[in-house]
Amino acid sequence: MLHVKIEKKYGQETINKLKDLKLLDSNYKISSDDAYIYIPVTGKPDGYNTVEREAMKSSRIEPERVSFSYDIIGSIAIIKGKSVDESRYLSRFLTERKNIKTVYLDSGIEGEFRTRNLTLLYGDPAYTTLYHENGIRLNVDVARAYFSPRLASERLRIAKEVRDGESIIDMFAGIGPFSILIAKNRMCNIIAIDKNPAAVELLNKNIGLNRIMGHITAIAGDSGMLVSEYSGFDRIIMNLPHDSIKFLPVAIDAIVPGGLINYYEICDLDTLESRMEYFREIGLEIVYKRIVHGFSKYQNMYSIELKKSGR
Ligand code: SAM
Repeated sequence: MLHVKIEKKYGQETINKLKDLKLLDSNYKISSDDAYIYIPVTGKPDGYNTVEREAMKSSRIEPERVSFSYDIIGSIAIIKGKSVDESRYLSRFLTERKNIKTVYLDSGIEGEFRTRNLTLLYGDPAYTTLYHENGIRLNVDVARAYFSPRLASERLRIAKEVRDGESIIDMFAGIGPFSILIAKNRMCNIIAIDKNPAAVELLNKNIGLNRIMGHITAIAGDSGMLVSEYSGFDRIIMNLPHDSIKFLPVAIDAIVPGGLINYYEICDLDTLESRMEYFREIGLEIVYKRIVHGFSKYQNMYSIELKKSGR
């Protein structure tokens, strides 16, 4: 195997140079003797002394050669969309980060509480962690209640839109990331509802954990039933991306004319187009629309802001 032979004191600089030249062969280990280091290369670089020597296969994963989907939530890393064996291998890359104590494989979000199906790959079998997002702190339980860090910038965008004095329903509040961020910065009144009692337990803890200006009432229950009892709200947040459409009629009835609905849906382009027509037909103006993130080959998660006609 071809190696660049270089004095130890020039080692790091030479490795960097060979990386830039795309000649470093990271499938093999770098070795050394008393005076020199030997860097495996895929071709002979100009101006360097090269030698043939035996090489050992490298076990190290080069981050730039690894591409996989994962979330980091506090001290917990969650790998998605891979087999257990593949994920075990990939988890070694994540555990190189100092703060990661646990790695799970997530083989799918399930059920009406949208909880993750987790397999422990590495570290403490812990499900709870503290997560910092946009200046708020959240107690997260990755097994008992839904939480995704992928909506952080969307939550910030909505929080910046809200004005003091708004009355808001967070219809599928989870552990409270939308409600708490909004109430941290605005004197508003929020009713935050979730059907999962474990999510509401964490939501209440998270309200206590953060200094908020607004007021949040956390309720465990079915929004479909509860929201039909409310009226006169300025804004409703509907973050149930596979099923929000079913709850749209009750949300419309609960807001004032001119009130806003922050609606989220995971769908393909055809469904999106038919939704747009439907929204117009039922008297909702489409104020804003964007892709929050990709979901599958043909589906994206869309954020759509809808305004009830009449003001
Ligand atoms: N908004 C939160 C967030 O950004 O992290 C959570 C969103 S999660 C996609 C949807 C949440 O809706 C889950 O926590 C689930 O328990 C809750 N949920 C599902 N059906 C519900 C219903 N009928 N009424 C109230 N909450 C419901």
